[in-house]
Amino acid sequence: MSIGRGADGGLEFDRDLSFANTLALPSRAEHFWHARTESGVGDGLELANAHGWPITVLGGGSNLLLPPAIGGLTLRADIEGVAFRQGRGDRVHVEVGAGVGWHALVEACVGRELWGVENLALIPGLAGAAPIQNIGAYGVELADVIDWVELVDRRDARMQRLDRDACDLGYRDSVFKRELADQVVITRLGLTLSTRPRPQLDYGVLRERVAATPSARDVFEAVCAIRREKLPDPIRTPNAGSFFKNPLVTAAVASRLLRQLPSMPHYPQSDGQVKLAAGWLIDQCGLKGRREGAFGVHDRQALVLVHFGGGTLEGLLAFADKLVDAVRERFGVVLEREPRRVDASGIYTPETGVGAPTIRASDG
Ligand SMILES: Cc1cc2nc3c(=O)[nH]c(=O)nc-3n(C[C@H](O)[C@H](O)[C@H](O)COP(=O)(O)OP(=O)(O)OC[C@H]3O[C@@H](n4cnc5c(N)ncnc54)[C@H](O)[C@@H]3O)c2cc1C
Repeated sequence: MSIGRGADGGLEFDRDLSFANTLALPSRAEHFWHARTESGVGDGLELANAHGWPITVLGGGSNLLLPPAIGGLTLRADIEGVAFRQGRGDRVHVEVGAGVGWHALVEACVGRELWGVENLALIPGLAGAAPIQNIGAYGVELADVIDWVELVDRRDARMQRLDRDACDLGYRDSVFKRELADQVVITRLGLTLSTRPRPQLDYGVLRERVAATPSARDVFEAVCAIRREKLPDPIRTPNAGSFFKNPLVTAAVASRLLRQLPSMPHYPQSDGQVKLAAGWLIDQCGLKGRREGAFGVHDRQALVLVHFGGGTLEGLLAFADKLVDAVRERFGVVLEREPRRVDASGIYTPETGVGAPTIRASDG
């Protein structure tokens, strides 16, 4: 059921979200607000604040664990548009709406022979979510190209622009996961790309897959090919990408493990810590390809948990806990989950549409 659907979105009740999360977990939103402009985002926030509803912000649902029911208002900022502006020298400034698909943006940039995001091809989700965990792949992360983020503050529905430093981007981390967690809706991003070739080929097998002087499209295509070989397509095999972060351990812990396991992949970091490969650790526990009921560890990439259908969030978390326990027992390393678990805050009944709050005409 929906009310007030117009050019700028509207309110829907009891909306099925099983198609709006890449793990295909069964989930329903008590109230769902689909905004298509900044002012539409503001309207949705004001509506939620007026009713005292908790707010859940949803992007493409590729990094979220959804509960069977989400109370309050679930909001999506589907702001479209990509604009390119020539800057000084080889720089090109790109402004992108939060609702643009990340991969579509990468394709558009590569199509203009711009460098900077080609290694980030095929990362699912929307541009608006990219700063939340500072998306990264194949040695490149959003932090390398981002200039600013525009957002609407959830408490007073005011718009603001944060520059790159204020976003405080780190490994799968940002201010939006810490000080500003659950306080803002991102509406637009500004990136700076380059017309000058600057291939980043140091990670994994990328260099072997491209010519000595590749174009941005060559790198983009190589990344797409490698990802397709390694990662299950969420459309056919529901998953949320890497289920665990690659753990960071002290140099002393890494040395201890390397004495026992000299072939262990390890990546020393500039701050002295050492990053380990969570998938390798799970694989070493003999769990790659393990299936239990509705969930399993992917048989080509142990970092990815897949949903075979008919499962729930509870079942997925119980399965993931077994993997965490196995890795902790074998290596003494604690794996942290990467996708975010949404709280089912608010009291939810499937009949929410009945006796629902009155909606002002301007809300939709
Ligand atoms: C097959 C697969 C491969 C993946 N590979 C990678 C990879 O290589 N590298 C990588 O970094 N990630 C990867 N991911 C994870 C995921 O794609 C990224 O984290 C992506 O940025 C999530 O985007 P989304 O739109 O789906 O966000 P969602 O999952 O919908 O939301 C993620 C978080 O962002 C918040 N959020 C979403 N939109 C907004 C907004 N407009 N304003 C404020 N908050 C918002 C949500 O509340 C939530 O906390 C992969 C996922 C899958 C399924």
